[in-house]
Amino acid sequence: MKFSKPFVEQTENLSDARLACQAHNCSRNWAVDGPSGRLCGAHAWADVMDWGSITAKITSDQLMGRVKRYEEPAAPMTDDEKRRTVLRFKNILGNADKDPKGWAKRLQRQEADGAALSPIQKKAWRDVLRVVS
Ligand SMILES: [Zn+2]
Repeated sequence: MKFSKPFVEQTENLSDARLACQAHNCSRNWAVDGPSGRLCGAHAWADVMDWGSITAKITSDQLMGRVKRYEEPAAPMTDDEKRRTVLRFKNILGNADKDPKGWAKRLQRQEADGAALSPIQKKAWRDVLRVVS
């Protein structure tokens, strides 16, 4: 009986080789398909004579942590996450649109509950709700 390698492993190796910049020892993925081959942005626009020093600079930057490594893009939001996000925005925007005097009523309730409001807050909610005290 013969076993073949798992399909996933084969495609991973294949895609890594296809994506690599063709400059010797460069660790980046290619971004420009030009006359000198498939190269990363750093190598594609430089003279071939400078490739060695460019590769050294890229490697050094990566070792020093100066270059952010490629990160997988964030997973798309699930329907549940979308619903929660929309609700959050509705709560923020909806309250403001529903009652233009909502903020004054909230301050009135807070004062009634014993919250310490500033003199300006006390005057503002009374002016807006036309409460004379
Ligand atoms: Zn490169």
